[in-house]
Amino acid sequence: MMMDPCELSPSYVRSIAPYQPGKPISELAREMGLEEAAIVKLASNENPRGIGPRTRAAIEAAIGQIARYPDGNGFELKQKLSKRYGVDMGSIVLGNGSNDVLELVASAFLGPGRASVFSQHCFAVYPLATQSRGARAIVVPAKNYAHDLEAMAMAIDDETYVVWIANPNNPTGTFARHADIEAFLKRAPERVLVVVDEAYNEYLAPELRSDSFKLIKRHPNLVVTRTFSKAYGLAGLRVGYALAHPSVADVMNRVRQPFNVNSMALVAAVAALDDMEFVARSYAENLQGMRQIEAGAKRLGLDYIPSHGNFITVRVAAGGQSAAEVYKKLLKRGVIVRPVGGGYGLPEHLRVTIGTAAENDKFLAALAASIRE
Ligand SMILES: *Cc1c(COP(=O)(O)O)cnc(C)c1O
Repeated sequence: MMMDPCELSPSYVRSIAPYQPGKPISELAREMGLEEAAIVKLASNENPRGIGPRTRAAIEAAIGQIARYPDGNGFELKQKLSKRYGVDMGSIVLGNGSNDVLELVASAFLGPGRASVFSQHCFAVYPLATQSRGARAIVVPAKNYAHDLEAMAMAIDDETYVVWIANPNNPTGTFARHADIEAFLKRAPERVLVVVDEAYNEYLAPELRSDSFKLIKRHPNLVVTRTFSKAYGLAGLRVGYALAHPSVADVMNRVRQPFNVNSMALVAAVAALDDMEFVARSYAENLQGMRQIEAGAKRLGLDYIPSHGNFITVRVAAGGQSAAEVYKKLLKRGVIVRPVGGGYGLPEHLRVTIGTAAENDKFLAALAASIRE
């Protein structure tokens, strides 16, 4: 008998359930014989407005440089972020999307015999990053769909080296206020790295935004991550970053690939930081779209989890059919949303990204037809 070469990989790797991304438009078009232009994708929390004008110009101007390796230290982007946020360049770690910097945390701080704490219904990357390092997952039940920070602090044990907090969380859209994050940091042992993932920071109401990374001075075990994938519209280019104590940043930089952020992404991110009007419009339109979908869900008699992101998770399984069935019916109508059963533990809900007003209308019409059918 020949052995299955897959058996050569450690058992903790083999037992990983693969990440389920939102279905690409091209795939649904092939499967259903639909025109790509007729499909609405509200499945991956992308910015429906695309990218800003400065960002587009910078990308177009940079094409000639593609034959060269990127600046492995990302000097210009770090310099720009350093000025914008008043942090030392040595506190910044760049990543191929913020997903990459989350993986760098896991590579640098987790391994067999160690554990990480995260919440039920949290972002799928935390369990993946934990499990792929052979570390143990400590999953804390959510409270009203939100992270229960009290219970998460209590769940930290002697083997815990990392706590993951998504703020706002995806897919629930729940948010912990600055004071609650600070209180958590005061309780967490210094030995435990606390990762606060702020991928949706730009979509927060102005009065809820905070410079949480300023807490790093008092809490050197804090890591704050942000991304250009959401409000800045650069999901396809892959660029994000972490702000951390310089010695944490240093060890994360040691485990990253030398050229983990590509040259287009670097150039685009620098320009995107100047596309402030674009980001402000994105925020405002997202807020309108959120109200539009909330009102639509109410009209259909569906509950939703109030969200602080650019997406909302709606309980669609009210009328006797499962969310998985509603998801399939939406696909047939050319609307892609995100199932959140399986790994996310929300089998009665679907997560929908806030689109343009026209996309939101199309989704609501397709949803109305799908739940009645
Ligand atoms: C989308 C998302 C990210 C990051 O995505 P990148 O494209 O890798 O930057 C990180 N955390 C959460 C909670 C997200 O939803």
